Amino acid sequence: MTRLAGKTALITGAARGIGLAFARRYVAEGARVAIADIDIVRARASAAEIGEAAIAVEMDVTRQDSIDAAVTETVAGLGQIDILINNAAIFTAAPLIEIERRDFDRVFAINVAGCLFTMQAVARHMIEAGIKGRIINMASQAGRRGESLVAVYCASKAAVISLTQSAGLNLIRHGINVNAIAPGVVDGEHWDGVDAFFAKYEGKAPGQKKREVGEAVPFGRMGTADDLTGMAVFLASDDAEYIVAQTYNVDGGNWMS
Ligand code: NAD
Repeated sequence: MTRLAGKTALITGAARGIGLAFARRYVAEGARVAIADIDIVRARASAAEIGEAAIAVEMDVTRQDSIDAAVTETVAGLGQIDILINNAAIFTAAPLIEIERRDFDRVFAINVAGCLFTMQAVARHMIEAGIKGRIINMASQAGRRGESLVAVYCASKAAVISLTQSAGLNLIRHGINVNAIAPGVVDGEHWDGVDAFFAKYEGKAPGQKKREVGEAVPFGRMGTADDLTGMAVFLASDDAEYIVAQTYNVDGGNWMS
């Protein structure tokens, strides 16, 4: 299990959830990782739990100065950045006529602009350092089709799929592969907020929406963060060298059902 031996990775939003699972798996595969998150207290605790192969970096992907500082700090701590996982994102839901502009702006600032400008900052570093790097963006099944109460988040993840295509086509000339992972439904703390939305708008009992969504997955259960880590290792590995600008579903068959 050392497919990423000697590699270094910056993973945004990695203090918890899917990003933290990526960090743990990358370290198990021989990489060193920067756990970058707006929640620096939790990022430090997560990095300490992983051990000396992990550092914690404070990063708000909505602010250019914070993106630049996080890249500089990661390069200082790990030597360089071979792999970027753009994982930081927030979820929001509301009926169309209740969507507030400030929610739209916040979701797009984190999920879309954060993804784009972190790609840009890391790609500049990779090009300057002559690194044939890998960038993995976290899309979603929500970016493949709209959902009644989830217009803003769905649109943001559709934008991530589109950015992955354009960035992938543009950066491969520098030897940087950009691809994305589109999970279906994944268990985790993120569901606390999701459940609250569906309790409010669909009158669901706590946990009911999550149960229903999990039962509808053809595989037979909701995904876990660990279900996604194999694809994140593959896309960063030498085996994926000829893969450019793609978005892969890892969803237990959910998209097809
Ligand atoms: P999560 O909410 O558990 O974790 C997100 C992390 O991002 C948190 O640690 C948070 O502090 C951090 N973050 C938030 N705003 C930030 C900012 N401005 N700058 C830096 N960090 C910030 O999310 P998750 O469920 O682990 O999802 C991870 C990724 O996978 C996201 O891109 C999400 O859209 C995607 N995804 C999740 C699911 C799912 O069901 N959980 C499904 C499809 C796609």
